[in-house]
Amino acid sequence: MRIQHLIDGRAVEGQDYFETINPATQAVLAEVAAGGEAEVNAAVAAAKAAFPAWAAKPAAERAKLVRKLGDLIAAHAPEIARTETMDTGQVIAQTGKQLVPRAADNFYYFAEMCTRVDGHTYPTPTHLNYTLFHPVGVCALISPWNVPFMTATWKVAPCLAFGNTAVLKMSELSPLTAARLGELALEAGIPKGVLNIVHGFGKEAGEPLCRHPDVRAISFTGSTVTGNRIVQAAGLKKFSMELGGKSPFVIFDDADMARALDAAVFMIFSNNGERCTAGSRILVQKSIYADFAQKFAERAKRITVGDPLDEQTIIGPMISTGHLAKVRSYIELGPKEGATMLCGGLDAPDLPAHLAQGNFVRPTVFADVDNRMRIAQEEIFGPVACLIPFDDEADAVAQSNDIAYGLSSYVWTENIGRAHRVAAGIEAGMCFVNSQNVRDLRQPFGGTKASGTGREGGTWSYEVFLEPKNVAVSL
Ligand code: NAD
Repeated sequence: MRIQHLIDGRAVEGQDYFETINPATQAVLAEVAAGGEAEVNAAVAAAKAAFPAWAAKPAAERAKLVRKLGDLIAAHAPEIARTETMDTGQVIAQTGKQLVPRAADNFYYFAEMCTRVDGHTYPTPTHLNYTLFHPVGVCALISPWNVPFMTATWKVAPCLAFGNTAVLKMSELSPLTAARLGELALEAGIPKGVLNIVHGFGKEAGEPLCRHPDVRAISFTGSTVTGNRIVQAAGLKKFSMELGGKSPFVIFDDADMARALDAAVFMIFSNNGERCTAGSRILVQKSIYADFAQKFAERAKRITVGDPLDEQTIIGPMISTGHLAKVRSYIELGPKEGATMLCGGLDAPDLPAHLAQGNFVRPTVFADVDNRMRIAQEEIFGPVACLIPFDDEADAVAQSNDIAYGLSSYVWTENIGRAHRVAAGIEAGMCFVNSQNVRDLRQPFGGTKASGTGREGGTWSYEVFLEPKNVAVSL
């Protein structure tokens, strides 16, 4: 199978091709067009040409087409989920039941929302001020390889619904489902040039896209290193930067332990641990630390690692051999830094023969972790949990904040005053109290510090995809 770029409504051959690999088996799934400056320029030109007519359409008409795309995703959900699982190693229980349905919801949600964009009025005795919201123009949408389909739709849906046109660049490691999205967009009747897709690598395709002078806004999800590079190279544009994380999951000794344990296991081991909002630093109050650590490790040992297409599997393969090597390097590092490995480690999990070459790793739990260790400070982005003890509320907040990142956070306590104080004290874009990460599409999603700038979701997406204009009329 060959995957082409989508430019101006047409499938465009690559000058070169690269392979996308099934990380569970190392089988080649497809050859994918590798884009460069020429393809980026053509895609931006197509998006620019399509913009005036698309922006001028009444919101209700755009909404109809965007909703139709949601319907087509829903109609093809099992096929898309399977492709996503094969391309990324994310388990089918999640792609099928959560991530692809959420992608359809993104289109339904923003289809409705674009018909409700309103403005503000600021009357004075001499002037009537009012606000207009205009679409921004051509937007660069850049997605990482973890949950790629959901992330791409989280960007494409508001971008298009609000009247912008787009050039989407997926990660080179997970291009397949976005290619399908492009086909479905045309089938939904979204005009040619409104959604363009250039496949390829960061340096060759991503960089020229971000630098392009006709690109007005960049919605980027990926690592902090790349985010910094983009901001420096792109010049003056609107930015939404959804970057890395190393989120604290704080458990006080008065927490509902059974629920906290479930949520802690879920937040580090679901999505293969390849999750930006993972609760990867589990801070546990000293009085319950030993008991919690033992129960947590027991749970981790029981997690099924294996074929991501099997409904029972909890952890599939890491996305690539390179990423597997990175995760393994941290598993090796932990004991050298003085952490105690309670389970997991470098031995390959027991797997059937057809998965012998896959990028699998055992869920690993480190206890006695000091927050200053590298395993606690750096984003591992795999199924590796760090259990860190803390003394009291002040210590919990201080350790939570002693990190470059500030994406998500989790607080578990039955003390309502403490819950609010700690939620307010943690430096993060999001805090979940007595809960795992639960999304409502109206919430502002995003992080602070090295985890990014800007928020997306609900009216927060205006910041990226709409340009406010104040009109002052002399009375
Ligand atoms: P990455 O930064 O390596 O790549 C992300 C995307 O950027 C890819 O499409 C890549 O090709 C492209 N890219 C690379 N160099 C580029 C450049 N110079 N200019 C333009 N584009 C370039 O990240 P990744 O490894 O694909 O994804 C994992 C990271 O993403 C983790 O750090 C994770 O925390 C983060 N992430 C954040 C969120 C969030 O919402 N905050 C969500 C998911 C993932």
